[in-house]
Amino acid sequence: MHAGEGYGLMQPEIVSLGEPMLEFNAETTGRLKDVSTFKRGWGGDTSNFAVAVARLGRSVGYMCRVGDDEFGKCFLELWRTEGVDTSRVIVEENGFTGIYFISIREEGEHDFTYYRADSPASRLSIDDLDPKYIEDAKLFHTSGISQAISESSRETVFKAMEIAKQSGVLVTYDPNLRLKLWPINTARAVITYAFELADVVFPSIEDVRTLLGPISPEAAARQILKRGPKIVVIKLGADGCLVVTRDQVVRSPGFRVTPMDTTGAGDAFDGAFDVGLLEEWTIEETAEFANAVGALTTLKKGAVAPLPRREQVDEFITSQSQK
Ligand code: ADP
Repeated sequence: MHAGEGYGLMQPEIVSLGEPMLEFNAETTGRLKDVSTFKRGWGGDTSNFAVAVARLGRSVGYMCRVGDDEFGKCFLELWRTEGVDTSRVIVEENGFTGIYFISIREEGEHDFTYYRADSPASRLSIDDLDPKYIEDAKLFHTSGISQAISESSRETVFKAMEIAKQSGVLVTYDPNLRLKLWPINTARAVITYAFELADVVFPSIEDVRTLLGPISPEAAARQILKRGPKIVVIKLGADGCLVVTRDQVVRSPGFRVTPMDTTGAGDAFDGAFDVGLLEEWTIEETAEFANAVGALTTLKKGAVAPLPRREQVDEFITSQSQK
């Protein structure tokens, strides 16, 4: 069943594909079995990305599978409230939308416990794709996590990337490597092929070092560039990002902030960078804008609550440049 019976809604410029998951954050420290209160949050890198794009003022649609349970319903409410097109969200009868718990050890380290096996998202299949929705977009975004959850979702992500590439839609890809989800050799093979299908890739420096070993950001970017993408963006946390193209190397320093929670900063960064690409800004302007959005996303708890609107980003950049 499609969530948006109203086909014929406006075609969004950006289409994102992946797995949404609801997050439950422990409100006290200790082992998960001993925690009794949790705060709900939004998870799923490609869903965070879609909300980030919508807040930044470009049209975006999300392709995924959710259950017809309460958690699937609250995601649909979130996307609709944020203006994300849900017409290609598939709602699975009797499906249980994936969830995860974050518990906090006494030393402060976070542990993640996932309940996503057999989730609707893990059953995403090539038949779920609406090729036209991808072909008519300007930009298609997806991630490595979306490929890690099951073989069928992996093949579906590849197929969607191929459809986009064949019709000249710009493909952007964040490997978002999670070794808990798949063995490194499988991850490396899949991500390497995804790099070939993508025009722009957004690995973090941690992803790059796990995939390629101890290497400088620039050397890593050059290696990845040889695989095919036109733009390699290495996310460097508080240090901002490094952008390498065939004829340009741009180092864009991070903004100085005191982060409260860095969850989702990378997803928001990807969304902002894609907005810059659609705006046809220079690489320098796009990188600065994405760094500002990434930095602003660290200022409050959660991945969605702190996502800024365009005016906030512009004000932030102006205020920081006056310092
Ligand atoms: P990921 O979340 O994918 O691991 P990063 O942690 O590198 O990615 O964060 C993504 C982007 O968010 C960075 O490239 C930077 O622009 C911004 N960012 C993240 N952490 C900070 C920080 N502590 N200070 C300023 N900017 C940050």
